[in-house]
Amino acid sequence: MPVAERYAEVRRRIEEACKRSGRDPGDVRVIAVTKYVGLETTKEVLDSGIEHVGENRVQEALPKWERLGHRGVWHFIGHLQRNKVKDVVGKFAYIHSLDRLSLAEEIEKRAKRLGIVCKCFVQVNVSGEQSKYGLPPEEVVPFVRRVSEMEAIEVVGLMTMAPFVEDPQETRDVFRGLKALQREVQALSLPRVPAPHLSMGMSNDFEVAVEEGATFVRLGSILVGKEA
Ligand SMILES: *Cc1c(COP(=O)(O)O)cnc(C)c1O
Repeated sequence: MPVAERYAEVRRRIEEACKRSGRDPGDVRVIAVTKYVGLETTKEVLDSGIEHVGENRVQEALPKWERLGHRGVWHFIGHLQRNKVKDVVGKFAYIHSLDRLSLAEEIEKRAKRLGIVCKCFVQVNVSGEQSKYGLPPEEVVPFVRRVSEMEAIEVVGLMTMAPFVEDPQETRDVFRGLKALQREVQALSLPRVPAPHLSMGMSNDFEVAVEEGATFVRLGSILVGKEA
């Protein structure tokens, strides 16, 4: 099925979720996660009118970004090593995986050097799964206090990944937890920490995430399929 058709179906489901929760569908942006697919399908994504592209590996993403002439708004959604920061800052408009001070310091250094402000989501491990990256919820407030002192980082929101479960309803508490943390962070009124966004929801659970306040959903398999 063409990406444009899949996208129309996804948007329809987002609208339904917004109706159920009294939200404006215009507040929910779709990031097409293209990590499973090649250049052609990534191009098809952009040609379908999807503006936001998400990738989790620097080495695979950058050649695509170059070949596509820097079209689109690129989101780095994977675990980020410090030695890769120089390849990400200035190319990806958003980093969704800020989860430790050493990483923040490196982003700050690189962004300053370029004279830009890097938009970051703080990744939170709401579910507490061992296998997941992200800060424990109780460390988020002290962390954003430190990051707010860095002039070249803007904390645009919080990001989480819910556990994969058969019944997506079971993920609801994770998304609610992130929303509650967002309120706490916003109440601090820290400089450069407006945090209006919540990056949450994937192919399996995006409707629940939208009902609970997602402003960016990250959709891979449901939108672009998987290529070998
Ligand atoms: C792969 C990935 C996604 C998309 O996963 P799907 O289940 O295919 O929609 C979203 N977020 C992150 C961080 C990912 O690594």
